[in-house]
Amino acid sequence: MSAGSGLGSSNPKDIVDFLVKLSREEPVPSSGMMFTHSYETGDPVLRDLARRAFELYMDKTMLDFTVYPSLVKLERDVVSFVARLMGGGESTAGTFTYGGTESIILAVKAARDFFKSRNPDLVPEIILPYTAHPAFVKAAVYLGLKPVLVPVNLESFKVDLNAVQERVSRRTAMIVGSAPNYPVGVVDDIRGLSDIALDRNVWLHVDACIGGFVLPFFKDLGEPIPDFNFKVDGVYSISVDLHKYGYTPKGASVILYRDRSLRKYQFFAYSRWPGYPLVNTVTLSTRSAGPLAASWAVIKYLGYDGYLKLSSKILNAKKRLVEGIKAVGLKILGSPESSIIAFTSEEISVAQLSLSMKRRGWIIQVQPGSIHLGFPQSIHLTISPIHEGLVDAFLRDLRESVEEVRSNPFKISMEDLVKVAGIRASLSELVEKLGLSREVIVEDETLLLISEAIRMLPPDFVETMLVEVVNEIVF
Ligand SMILES: *Cc1c(COP(=O)(O)O)cnc(C)c1O
Repeated sequence: MSAGSGLGSSNPKDIVDFLVKLSREEPVPSSGMMFTHSYETGDPVLRDLARRAFELYMDKTMLDFTVYPSLVKLERDVVSFVARLMGGGESTAGTFTYGGTESIILAVKAARDFFKSRNPDLVPEIILPYTAHPAFVKAAVYLGLKPVLVPVNLESFKVDLNAVQERVSRRTAMIVGSAPNYPVGVVDDIRGLSDIALDRNVWLHVDACIGGFVLPFFKDLGEPIPDFNFKVDGVYSISVDLHKYGYTPKGASVILYRDRSLRKYQFFAYSRWPGYPLVNTVTLSTRSAGPLAASWAVIKYLGYDGYLKLSSKILNAKKRLVEGIKAVGLKILGSPESSIIAFTSEEISVAQLSLSMKRRGWIIQVQPGSIHLGFPQSIHLTISPIHEGLVDAFLRDLRESVEEVRSNPFKISMEDLVKVAGIRASLSELVEKLGLSREVIVEDETLLLISEAIRMLPPDFVETMLVEVVNEIVF
């Protein structure tokens, strides 16, 4: 213990310095250089405000609102703002959660228990377009529902309504549509899904995790946005993330229900132990109120007008990006209505293109695709307000990178792929061969190889490989 430095053995300044050093080489979320994992307004006042609010509440737990009654007001304000955005009315109810995955797990649980209350003897099924977020499959696996995957049209990337019609049965507990889907930013035909759901009396969930804070504003800016919210009669629940286009710190989402009577199926109560009577509205018990307080502050600060202004920046950036991307010979997937776009190429490896862009400082996301499922390899771009001022620089670098890849394509040999396939034989050997280390610094070439392996190998095998490799790497 060093003198006068408190209880620990290191002094706080050294510790903070170490953390700063540790993350020095990493992408900076506020930089605007990231087109994935970051939702950046470019407003430092907003970030400071969020941090202040987070700090004020970070030691308070959301476990028991009778201890911290102010949390009830914060949650009500946040949920009601989102409910209004989603066309909710008097009966709309919802809960603040720690993220999109949690919102989805809770909605699936509510739908399952609602279904079970009427059909105690059936194994419930959940109908999912291939473009639905994996969190739904995860929820199904966790909660004992059978996922029923349905195709999407590979031109429009919207769910195939006929396929849904064919698969829906008396075992269907939930149908899912995305507004928009994450991979290509396209909004499913929610009215079409709603007609099927109403006809068969099935719960329809709309996943607006990424679109909830964009589509309503795009619509008000004059964009042709298809109906997707509670104004559509068959919609029972909607998930909307705050920690994406709500611009709040991570750990914040909202799950909404058409009616309070549906929400109760997500709750859990227990009083048969010698401890405190437990009633959980969500999955976790003890959790920081920081994300809720920060969300409340950000929503208060921006309000409807603030979000509208930020959305118009996104829209402006998006239109210029779409044009510029087409101009260099790349192909936009579908006709994305939202703030996400994806592009592919029949001529060059866009995975290699992503590495070229990375050397220029840009973080863009590779979607490996799958020859088994018919999905193309593509690049995903999540567009933020801050990108408005960076479009020209981005497109200039994209042009250069396309040229670079064209003149120097990276060839992956069958031998290399077989090496990846050898993973089944000896995992630690493979981890070593691929140069994956416990420091998780993955060589660029290795990333390309892994991406190509995911594209070429059967999904069952890929999933096993991903679990095994990550199990080797992570502590
Ligand atoms: C991000 C996202 C999710 C999952 O949310 P997390 O916050 O990452 O758990 C679900 N659906 C869509 C469409 C998303 O974009």
